[in-house]
Amino acid sequence: MTLAITTPTPKTEGARAFLASPRKQILIDGQWRDAGAGGTFETHDPASGQMLALLAEGTADDVDAAVASARQALTSHEWRGLTPSARGKLLGKIADLIDAHVEELAELETLDQGKSYKTGRFGEIPASAEQFRYFAGFCTKILGTTIPTSISYQPAGKQIFAYTTREPIGVVAAITPWNSPMLMAAMKLAPALAAGCTVVLKPAEETSLTALRLGELMLEAGLPKGVVNIVTGFGEIVGTALTAHPDVDKVAFTGSTEVGRMIVGAAQGNLKKLTLELGGKSPAIILADADMALAIPGVARGIFSNSGQVCVAGSRVYAHRSVYDQVVDGLSKAASALTLGHGLDPATDLGPLVNRKQADRVAGFIRDGRADGAEIAAGGRQDGEFGTFFEPTVVTSVRPDMRLMREEIFGPVVAVTPFDDPDEAIVYANDSPYGLAGSVWTQDLSSAHRLAASVKAGTIWINCHSYFSPELPKGGHRQSGWGYENGAPGLDNYLETKTVCAVI
Ligand code: NAD
Repeated sequence: MTLAITTPTPKTEGARAFLASPRKQILIDGQWRDAGAGGTFETHDPASGQMLALLAEGTADDVDAAVASARQALTSHEWRGLTPSARGKLLGKIADLIDAHVEELAELETLDQGKSYKTGRFGEIPASAEQFRYFAGFCTKILGTTIPTSISYQPAGKQIFAYTTREPIGVVAAITPWNSPMLMAAMKLAPALAAGCTVVLKPAEETSLTALRLGELMLEAGLPKGVVNIVTGFGEIVGTALTAHPDVDKVAFTGSTEVGRMIVGAAQGNLKKLTLELGGKSPAIILADADMALAIPGVARGIFSNSGQVCVAGSRVYAHRSVYDQVVDGLSKAASALTLGHGLDPATDLGPLVNRKQADRVAGFIRDGRADGAEIAAGGRQDGEFGTFFEPTVVTSVRPDMRLMREEIFGPVVAVTPFDDPDEAIVYANDSPYGLAGSVWTQDLSSAHRLAASVKAGTIWINCHSYFSPELPKGGHRQSGWGYENGAPGLDNYLETKTVCAVI
């Protein structure tokens, strides 16, 4: 069956009003303006192909202006002069405004990205508000230390007084991907602002709408001009200009490992600080004693939610041979039970992938896998009038050397493999260049913690998958990234330490 879909009218007045003026601008120094060269590009509803808005196509000149504005704001009285308490209140106000506009933002996210409305309304948009609320609390708790020293050569009769202070790292370029646009932006903006930094945000070209609406809300909250600038446009132009810019102090990037590598190269000029949240190929290990009533729906959610366009998606499932058939059968049934459709339709579980290119890419993995001997237990078909949908898919007989097993698919596709011994499962799980996340499903505490210690990944979940909260540090081991977001380590990445050592 081919899904033929039209874009529904959004229910919220806010989303309708935002889309009623379809020509969007960039935000520099507190002003909305066209891109310097006047260029625009279209953003579409991936479910129906309908154009939603014309975005400003930022240029290197726009990046220069945005960075200059962020540099100026960094030391401005309006920003640097705010007390920590006032800065915290401002972040809290942004959180409250996101909550007040949660339905509108969820509708815009669905229209632009494709995800189901439920995912935005009850997951990612409230989670974005929580990012600001959590980091707001840090503003008044950014502390240095006093340090007793053992320096032996101070002048006679004198003492050493040494202490540290924490300073904002400076101007941050925040570059975000298309899978969870609003949340990815909030995960960078909230700690950066809590630390006192200023930001140039470059949202993904496929999904910029909620970042632009967030910009409006931040101004409404009273954020001083220039503290957050937003430049829409393409990675090769706006992204490269930002990452090579001599006046940007740090790049906070979430995206593919491939682009992460390019950023490492581009950042060399002034040795920018980098945090890189990159790709993954996360394993889910199901032991023989796992509670299947928990494991099967949990693992299914861990791979199929947001149509698999989740960095931590559990795309490799290793099931003990005694439960392997049950797992394949259970995941296949869970896949077949999911309803594909427009994300704004309340009946929809899974919307389209972000665009045709991504859906074709997923189809390519399935085609190559089949040719290599993989078997499809459920799904496997591309769908939709514009080819942007992909059925949730369960694949078996996938060898460790196949692309399906090695590369990040970023689609609703899971490979299920049996194992006989937990040690064998650890070897399989670690047979990947990535190390972003993983999950372990068992009722035995010792096995759970032994596996948690042995699987190489930044996050391990036990009897759950894809559980996030701003309190929990999140980062990639191996080629899944550098540094952390969230928790205290997430704030540290936006701060420098200064040591002051005085003879008194
Ligand atoms: P992408 O790497 O193609 O693009 C990400 C961002 O980088 C976009 O804004 C893009 O315009 C920009 N960009 C592209 N080329 C650039 C360049 N040369 N210089 C600077 N910026 C450039 O990623 P994507 O396809 O948008 O998102 C999917 C990827 O993101 C997946 O690999 C996924 O695993 C990853 N991701 C990781 C996490 C995490 O926390 N580790 C979270 C979400 C997504």
